[in-house]
Amino acid sequence: MIQPEGLFRRNFLALSLCLPALAESRDAFGGAADAGTYDAVIVGLGAAGAAAAIEAADRGLKVAVLEKQPQAAHCPTTRLSSGIYQCPDKNIDAELLQKYVTATYVNNGRYLLDKGELDPVLTELSGVWAKTAPQTTEWLQSLDPDFRYASDSSYTVSRFLNIWTGTRLKIRSHIATYGKWIDFLHPTFGLPKAKKMNGEALYACLQEGIRKRRNIDVYYGCTARKLIAGDGAVEGAEALDAAGRRLSFRAKKGVVLASGNFVFNEALRSALLPGSCDFPWATAGSPSNTGDGILLGLSAGAGIIGTSVYFDRFAALLTEKINGTRLGVVLDCVGKPGSIIVDNYGRRYISESTLEDSEQHFGFFHEMLTFDMSTLSFPRAPSWLIFDHSFLLKTPIATLGEGSTVNATVPWDQNLTVAVERGWVLAAASVAELAAKISAHPDNHGRISAKALQETLLEFNKGVAQASDPLFDRNPETLAPISTAPFYALPLSIDIPHMAAGLKTAGKRRVLTWDGKPVKGLYAAGEVAPVSRFIHDKGGHLSECLVFGRYVGRVLAGAA
Ligand SMILES: Cc1cc2nc3c(=O)[nH]c(=O)nc-3n(C[C@H](O)[C@H](O)[C@H](O)COP(=O)(O)OP(=O)(O)OC[C@H]3O[C@@H](n4cnc5c(N)ncnc54)[C@H](O)[C@@H]3O)c2cc1C
Repeated sequence: MIQPEGLFRRNFLALSLCLPALAESRDAFGGAADAGTYDAVIVGLGAAGAAAAIEAADRGLKVAVLEKQPQAAHCPTTRLSSGIYQCPDKNIDAELLQKYVTATYVNNGRYLLDKGELDPVLTELSGVWAKTAPQTTEWLQSLDPDFRYASDSSYTVSRFLNIWTGTRLKIRSHIATYGKWIDFLHPTFGLPKAKKMNGEALYACLQEGIRKRRNIDVYYGCTARKLIAGDGAVEGAEALDAAGRRLSFRAKKGVVLASGNFVFNEALRSALLPGSCDFPWATAGSPSNTGDGILLGLSAGAGIIGTSVYFDRFAALLTEKINGTRLGVVLDCVGKPGSIIVDNYGRRYISESTLEDSEQHFGFFHEMLTFDMSTLSFPRAPSWLIFDHSFLLKTPIATLGEGSTVNATVPWDQNLTVAVERGWVLAAASVAELAAKISAHPDNHGRISAKALQETLLEFNKGVAQASDPLFDRNPETLAPISTAPFYALPLSIDIPHMAAGLKTAGKRRVLTWDGKPVKGLYAAGEVAPVSRFIHDKGGHLSECLVFGRYVGRVLAGAA
């Protein structure tokens, strides 16, 4: 039995404490103690940082990894993830794979590919990806022979044939595990190795790789706060350790920023995400993602790249915030029979069945961000998932094996006791009462009316009785009535892994200035500097972190 109150408070506090106050760091660092000279200094120990460190160490480099979270509580987004990564068949046509992947990196990729005008940097990187990704499982098993993977037939082949007219390539997304893989619904956080699954398993495998390499020193509880500038180049990083000491780490070959995304940095979110700055994005990732690497890069003159689309995961939008960012819980139930999505006025606006696991995930944020000029508002932000008690009895609501629920940052039970108690999910004996509760919710501003919600449900249920959805042509197999009290509503938003905006980099993952010149000695990998900014098959994010993390390790060692 979880004890939500205590757990939530404790985690919230612990996480808030480990967030760096970068602004405070702008004082003199002159007195920093010398923590040593390394070949490579890597900032952040998620998938990208671990892959870079291991690869560099395997090529003989001496590596320091600075990780701001304390070891005992270390939980990067990589660990909270579903642990799906791509590992195409080894005998795949690498040239074709490269073409497909290139076409998915930017939104006009297919068009530019046909015209032969793709950015050479993207072509170089997709070439690296096509050669390296097929070795991923083998590489992970070289770190820990006990590592296993599971696979799901729906993740096997490339899915973007509407933008891609080539062969249906075997992308093969693997799910990290150590024992028999069960599902994404159950967290295995902190369980013995044989029981680890998903992000927890991938994290354990990478940690094992790090642990076995004597030439990698990991400094936990050590927040990189400043880059050391030398003779026209970045020559190291300065950090603050858990005891408040300033340490300086010298890097002979380069500093790699691998500090994850910026979702818990309100200013960067406002600047880099679409929508008004207070658009209620939800996030289920690690609160350590405060955009530090982006700020460090900016301090060295780096440029920023924006996104062209988001990978949309649906999330319950909670009222709790960390660093001004609303927490989210990743949902597993959107589009399932017996639920609908309505806007803030109680109207449906989309066929919910198209939002099940399909390409549509990528475009939904456009729908959600529809702006209404007459009211100067976003009527669909957030939206509301409406369902009834029969739905609750047969449908798992959240994927507890990934995101904020994994390490109990958010306590959530699938029968919604905690969620209802805390007002994250609204429950009511009648539709009219539900509408009144939505109306009183701070995200609705009194916009919904009982009449509108009742009409929507009446119309929907009438269609269900005839196995049709005249308004949106929803897949009849997903039609089931919403008629058994109690009725429920939860504010629905999007959880964004954020692999879409960040530092501007060149082919060899060197950080670039706004005008495209390399910042000497500075590299980046992972979410802090995404390559893929458009769409990807399942596992694309982790795959990118692993592939380009390894690549930057080779680059530093002069082997690429
Ligand atoms: C719920 C969820 C599920 C996901 N599932 C998948 C999936 O199945 N497949 C997939 O491909 N993608 C998935 N993603 C996305 C994927 O997890 C991320 O893209 C990936 O983990 C990012 O890895 P990273 O190494 O870039 O950063 P992270 O894993 O976030 O690691 C960054 C590290 O840097 C540290 N750090 C930050 N700032 C500093 C600093 N100043 N000094 C020192 N250290 C610092 C942080 O503490 C952290 O440990 C998911 C994302 C979420 C939120």
